[in-house]
Amino acid sequence: MGENILTIKDLVVSYGNIQALTGISIDIERGEIVTLIGSNGAGKSTTLRTVSGINKPTSGDISFEGKSILGMKTHQLARAGIAHAPEGRHIIPGLTVEQNLQVGLTARPAEFKDSIEEDFERMYTLFPVLRERRKQTGWSLSGGEQQMLSLARALISKPRLLLLDEPSLGLAPKVTAQVFEAIASVNKVDGVTILLVEQNAFMALNVANRGYLLENGAIRHSGTSKELLASPAVRDAYLGA
Ligand code: ATP
Repeated sequence: MGENILTIKDLVVSYGNIQALTGISIDIERGEIVTLIGSNGAGKSTTLRTVSGINKPTSGDISFEGKSILGMKTHQLARAGIAHAPEGRHIIPGLTVEQNLQVGLTARPAEFKDSIEEDFERMYTLFPVLRERRKQTGWSLSGGEQQMLSLARALISKPRLLLLDEPSLGLAPKVTAQVFEAIASVNKVDGVTILLVEQNAFMALNVANRGYLLENGAIRHSGTSKELLASPAVRDAYLGA
């Protein structure tokens, strides 16, 4: 067993009377890609939003690299090494691609100040279309390009843990495949641990080492991606098999 980078324990999160998470526990080891799959409203985004400090849990604990991060603000978590690429991308449309990436630098720990140029280069190698578009504004980008920019902006902050929400949303299959190739490379080459939320269970399980199936705010199944891909419950509900 490797070292846990993230431990979520008995997490309960509510929106008013609605209990979105009913006490879930998730462990992620350093170096893994772990996916959360499940239908609309299962609680996937809520899990990511709670890890990144946007939502406050009613009870339970979340620790990152062995220390509780409950109560920490989003910007503090970013500096501590957790980046969140939210659903809907949230790039700044009035800024160019390059300027959007510079926004990502604000969350970057000082120790990396000498490798900024190198890291921009890495992003442009990972997403060649962003190099071509680097002087264009966010407004002019296609959905796929915006998704790549959102991912690159999260990565330029040099996270050790990347929280990635629905990267395939609204993208054509070919673009989705490119984005997933980049996700695999970031994990393998740059060593970033990834917690990936996806409705496209097939794509997610193909890139992830392990997965958790959420239903109505609870974990129904967990296992290696291979086990989940073969599980009748997952196949029936999520893979259209
Ligand atoms: P999707 O795939 O549709 O994004 P999800 O699995 O990410 O779904 P969540 O967005 O985490 O699900 O939602 C979990 C539950 O919490 C749902 O019942 C949802 O309606 C509710 N919920 C989410 N955000 C809010 C909010 N801001 N206010 C009230 N209820 C919310």
